[in-house]
Amino acid sequence: MSDYDQNNIFAKIIRGEIPSKKIYEDEKILAFEDISKAAPIHILVVPKGQFISFSDFVLKAGTDEVNNFFKKVAEIASNLGLDNSGYRLITNNGSDAGQTVFHFHVHILGKKKMSELL
Ligand code: AMP
Repeated sequence: MSDYDQNNIFAKIIRGEIPSKKIYEDEKILAFEDISKAAPIHILVVPKGQFISFSDFVLKAGTDEVNNFFKKVAEIASNLGLDNSGYRLITNNGSDAGQTVFHFHVHILGKKKMSELL
C-alpha cells in the first residue's frame, strides 16, 4: 500500500483549506455532505487521523478510536433521522472497490429505497 497523501481532498477539508458542508465535527471525527449525492442524504464520515482506507484504519488505529468512530457513524445516522427508514453504509477499500479518495471514509446513504447491492 502506498503512503498517505497529505494533500488528498479530505485532508484539505479537515484542515479547512477547502470548504465542505459540515454536519458534525469533534476532535477526532468530521462528517460532511458528499459533493455528488447518490441519495437525498449522502454524508461522508472521516476520522481526522491519517488513514488511507478501512483496513488501514482498523489495523492501525487503537481499539477505542475504532469503536468511537463507528459509534459516531451510528449517532450521526440517528441524528439525521434515519433509524426508522434505514440507511446504507459503504466504505470502498482500494481501487477494485472504486475508492477514489485515499483517506478512510464511510458513506451514509439514506432517504432512498435501495435494492441492488452493487
Ligand atoms: P470513494 O469513491 O468511496 O473514495 O468516495 C469519494 C467520495 O468523495 C465521492 O462520493 C465523491 O463524490 C466525494 N467527494 C469528492 N470530492 C469531494 C468534496 N470536495 N467534498 C465532498 N465530497 C467529495
